[in-house]
Amino acid sequence: VTTFAGKTVALFGLGGSGLATALALKEGGARVVACDDNPAKMAEARDKGIETGDLRKVDWSQVSVLILSPGVPLTHPEPHWSAKLARAAGVEIVGDIELFCRERAKIAPDAPFVAITGTNGKSTTTALVAHILREAGRDVQMGGNIGTAILSLAPPAHDRIHVVECSSFQIDLAPSLAPTVGVHLNISPDHLDRHGTMENYAAIKERLVTKAEIAVVGTDDDFSRAIAEACARKGVDVMPVSVGSVGPKGVFADGTRLVRGTPAGPLPVADLAGIRSLRGAHNAQNAAAAVAVALALGTPDNRIEAGLRTFPGLPHRMEEIGRIGPVLFINDSKATNADSTEKALKSFDDILWILGGKPKEGGIASLRPYFPKVRKAYLIGAASDAFAETLGDSVPFERAVTLDRAVEHAARDAAALGAPAVVLLSPACASYDQYPNYEVRGDHFRELVKALPGINPTMG
Ligand code: ADP
Repeated sequence: VTTFAGKTVALFGLGGSGLATALALKEGGARVVACDDNPAKMAEARDKGIETGDLRKVDWSQVSVLILSPGVPLTHPEPHWSAKLARAAGVEIVGDIELFCRERAKIAPDAPFVAITGTNGKSTTTALVAHILREAGRDVQMGGNIGTAILSLAPPAHDRIHVVECSSFQIDLAPSLAPTVGVHLNISPDHLDRHGTMENYAAIKERLVTKAEIAVVGTDDDFSRAIAEACARKGVDVMPVSVGSVGPKGVFADGTRLVRGTPAGPLPVADLAGIRSLRGAHNAQNAAAAVAVALALGTPDNRIEAGLRTFPGLPHRMEEIGRIGPVLFINDSKATNADSTEKALKSFDDILWILGGKPKEGGIASLRPYFPKVRKAYLIGAASDAFAETLGDSVPFERAVTLDRAVEHAARDAAALGAPAVVLLSPACASYDQYPNYEVRGDHFRELVKALPGINPTMG
């Protein structure tokens, strides 16, 4: 990126995207001074030819911009020290998405750019949009908060579509974000520790769509409906997306059927029944949003349907691993709280439920309405005592302690049922008591299931 050629750039936060940003800026002719609290990250950057330094000691009057990693607090609970120093010196603070936007404005302002946000479903929707467009033969670059850092992707070009997942932190650091198609899926209380109030959080999300040419907005919660209204007031072309209601314009899920609203009435686009990677009402919202994006970019209906049908899904999100006879094995390790687990419990019946780990506030009490669907629960990790108490007399359970034992016992009990059942890992907990992260936990589950006798793995 050449926006800061010949200028001095300060950068704080050398995670994956920070390092990619530093390299892209340096390649574009900027002098980058990078910093991180972690000396190992500093050493890694130096190995890659990046100059590192203590940003407390630089002459800020010589610095043109501070690049902040999305993981570093800009406002809440208080600004990071590097942000305070930059502000005191009148230096602007931006993130990597902003650099991408400025580069695009310079080299290919008409390059199609899809930016996707929301509290939940960002990654699934981003991957699905990219998949549908690729299947339709378009040149697609996908990244941002999912997978590849935005500045490691191929640069914007007239015929190339960038599909980018944006967290609220990234939006907050991208004042000139103005995508061709902006997607806002939903809002639920999350990350309030980093954004203060719901109003502030919603205002940040709103910025992504109110500056889009076309805004695809989920209208199934009050905050998001208000965002759709704000877009319409500003003259943005809004395509509403909803699970349940059907309107004259937008894309809607009516049961498993996806329809496109027209003034003359709804037209069918696809049926999600039987698409294993898009089970559940939450995925109907994601699919409807992805369809709206594909339509906005001129994709023919039949190519959209083909894209939906061949979507492999993302790992660890209600991922189907395989079957033994009538018993299905599902990896939902990404469900690290009760809200996410609720989506899985809603989607299946006759569940042998593996749960536990490092518990979150509130535990699993909110899941009581689904307990009748659970044949038996297998408790693992630190949450076992608390969860045993909540399950009480209403669900049979055992303290399996480890995932190995839980899988072994659940598979045995499921086989003994001799009827359709689902062995579901949906922990409603963080993994840190037993695993480095939810991916490692889910990978372990997948290995254990694939090693079961008689398993018939799902083809991905
Ligand atoms: P994100 O990238 O926003 O974290 P993902 O696509 O990775 O979202 O999905 C994470 C989890 O969030 C899923 O396993 C599911 O439990 C839940 N989820 C996904 N899509 C939605 C949605 N549209 N509405 C509510 N919850 C969702």
